[in-house]
Amino acid sequence: MVRLIGIASLIMLLFLAQAEVVDAFNSYHPTAESTHEEITEEALKDQGFSKDAIEYMEDFNTYQDWSEWRDKSKYRPEHHFDRPPGKSHADAFKDGARYVRAEMDKAKEYLKNCTTIGAIAAIGRALHAVQDFFAHSNYVDLPKADKAAAKNALFDPAKNPPASLKLTGYDPNAKDPYNPPGDLYPHGSGIGANAKDSTDHPQHEEAKKAAVEASRETVERMKMELEKELGADKVKELWNKFANFKGRRILFFLKPPPYEEYPPVEIKRIEGLGCIIRAWELAGLDPRDYKDLMERANLIAQGFSPEYPYSLNAEVAAFHITALTADVRDAVASGDIQAAQDITRTALDYAERIVDDARSMDVDVDQASAALWEAQNLYETGRFEGALLTIPAITNDLLPKAYPEFQEPLEFSLYLIRATHAETGRPLKNMAVTLQWPYYEADIRVGEEGYVVLIGPSGRFEYIIPIELNIIGLPLLDYFPQLKNYIVWTRGLGTAPENGLTILDISISTFFIPVEIAMLIANNAINILLFLLVLLPIGWRLTKKLRRSSLNPSIQLHS
Ligand SMILES: [Zn+2]
Repeated sequence: MVRLIGIASLIMLLFLAQAEVVDAFNSYHPTAESTHEEITEEALKDQGFSKDAIEYMEDFNTYQDWSEWRDKSKYRPEHHFDRPPGKSHADAFKDGARYVRAEMDKAKEYLKNCTTIGAIAAIGRALHAVQDFFAHSNYVDLPKADKAAAKNALFDPAKNPPASLKLTGYDPNAKDPYNPPGDLYPHGSGIGANAKDSTDHPQHEEAKKAAVEASRETVERMKMELEKELGADKVKELWNKFANFKGRRILFFLKPPPYEEYPPVEIKRIEGLGCIIRAWELAGLDPRDYKDLMERANLIAQGFSPEYPYSLNAEVAAFHITALTADVRDAVASGDIQAAQDITRTALDYAERIVDDARSMDVDVDQASAALWEAQNLYETGRFEGALLTIPAITNDLLPKAYPEFQEPLEFSLYLIRATHAETGRPLKNMAVTLQWPYYEADIRVGEEGYVVLIGPSGRFEYIIPIELNIIGLPLLDYFPQLKNYIVWTRGLGTAPENGLTILDISISTFFIPVEIAMLIANNAINILLFLLVLLPIGWRLTKKLRRSSLNPSIQLHS
């Protein structure tokens, strides 16, 4: 048996050793850390991140090379600061910088929505591109001032890179991708190459050092930007969750990571919604009052907030703003010009914000800016109604491009989950519950009072109360989440109405055994078995030995 495992792992290692990725700082190494992993580790090790947070970021980082190597159609030059044929150095650089910026912004959004794994994935991808930049350019050869300019432009796609900056050419469709025909500054290969990926390259270490610094800067910048947006206190809370991230796997060498599939867009929104509403103390919910809560959730789902008083859904926004014209007309008719002015000003502020947002997301705002300018002119000259009627042209143009996720109605359901002991009717404190929908799963815990409220998808779902097996305190479900499908207290099916409340009463029976003791035994079943199988025989032998040695002296006395 041992020999069989040995042979199997040898075959596995040989297979993995062939899976070499060559078009970047190397990303995979079957026995040691790859360059991308080394850089990430070096950059983040003293920055207060958990081991898992760093390791998962490394996984998503190297996954960029892995996934595109496995499926060539996924390759994008900007993921690696490669210069494709026909692109200028500056344009190829800007593509890369835009990609880095987009992933950093995504990471910030995920952090704000409490989706830590999403943030970790986005940062991992941003770091991959940032690190590749130093291997796939002449950065290390540039004079000091140009280096600084390149670094600035790396994090801000609006800035231009220095004219002296070159990116190495790469063409996946060429016969030799590393030397595209006619390219004056190709990747090349080996120690004389322009690209510094190879560990033997004389400038490899220098490029790597620069990549370490820039990687640290990427994460620091993100934090600073968030602090500016949300204030230091709020960021501290979000950042702690991110930095203390705890992963779920035990086999670190298994790659690519199993979390390739991200939840669909609506799931992210549902999670985000749950994150926002949790702050309103859902736990105190009275099921009879849930309608008010659903209403509020629906408003958030449409993008209503103090910052966006007319929603981020184009149709809803146009409806609300057009409706304001009646108020303005009434105000003017009754001689209250101040009120008419105030109403219009609020709508104008909202429109300005949308234009700014869209611009920061690289959406073309030329037409919308012209409309905004017109609306402002109408406002200045006291034609409030006209100003209001100009705004829907702006929102109809920009909202679908800047906020596509708010254009479709979000379907969700509110779940009130209660767990009780069948024999005594007492609440089961802190019981773990898993809810599974066809493409999504939520792990939650009922609180001290035995209930919890959750916002989730509507439709058919399955619920499970898993037995929380552990081995000497090590929670097995954390490492083998699939176990909860097999070793359970109880399970069942349900259907949740769209935009409604589902009350889920789960009861478990422990027959005549008191519930606390039954749970203790079930959760520790493996420990009990281990004790019976291993410790009891050893103990038995020990006592036998002790008995014999205490008998022997008495025999000697008599002889
Ligand atoms: Zn790469």
